[in-house]
Amino acid sequence: MPSLMQTETIAGGTASTELENGTLTLLHGALEKHGSAIAQASSFSVEDVVVTDLLTRIRSDVRVFAIDTGRLPEETLLCADAVAARFHIQIEWFFPQREAVEKLIREQGTHSFRESLEKRHECCGIRKVEPLSRALAGLTAWITGLRRDQNVSRTQLNETEPDLLHGGILKYNPLAAWTAEDVLAYAKSRQLPFHRLYGQGYRSIGCAPCTRAVQPGEDERAGRWWWESSEHKECGLHARH
Ligand code: SF4
Repeated sequence: MPSLMQTETIAGGTASTELENGTLTLLHGALEKHGSAIAQASSFSVEDVVVTDLLTRIRSDVRVFAIDTGRLPEETLLCADAVAARFHIQIEWFFPQREAVEKLIREQGTHSFRESLEKRHECCGIRKVEPLSRALAGLTAWITGLRRDQNVSRTQLNETEPDLLHGGILKYNPLAAWTAEDVLAYAKSRQLPFHRLYGQGYRSIGCAPCTRAVQPGEDERAGRWWWESSEHKECGLHARH
């Protein structure tokens, strides 16, 4: 496993105790209610690392899963290793179906997702959505690091909601009311592992070919699928219904 020296940590902030305590109470109730049938989905964003930290403050044996789409930046994998080491957890990795990826690449090339919204959804469907459905099988609830103010597609986000895309299991969004500043302050105060690409101007990080750094003043998710319009900034994992 790579050493923690390969991933940054972030230090210096002061978290809001009231916000933190409210979120801890929500997560405590979720873990009590669902036992081992609840897991966190992590992409190793700063929000997801904050959620893992909050969860492990409540219970040491929390389940954290991740999807390796096959197109992740190296820095994401390094951050994943740092998170596993910091919290003494084993990440439950899920991969796309090999046959589906081979068919996609052989028939459409390596960058078909740039050609149309339909083709981008096809790639996300194979590399993200299908593995997610396997990750959620058998769970009664899952936990995300989504925030309301990340993008216009997330303004209606609730802290707890039924996930109708996945059989109505519960979806917890404990950071729904947190701002980017709240998240950063908490991450600093806890000196959490920090994805290196944030240091290069990235604000929201997904697959390498579909993510770029953003300019000051740009929307947080402007760097995701930047060739598409802002209402299309989802990949099917968190589609609103
Ligand atoms: S983000 Fe891009 S590379 Fe990743 S699954 Fe979606 S379309 Fe494919």
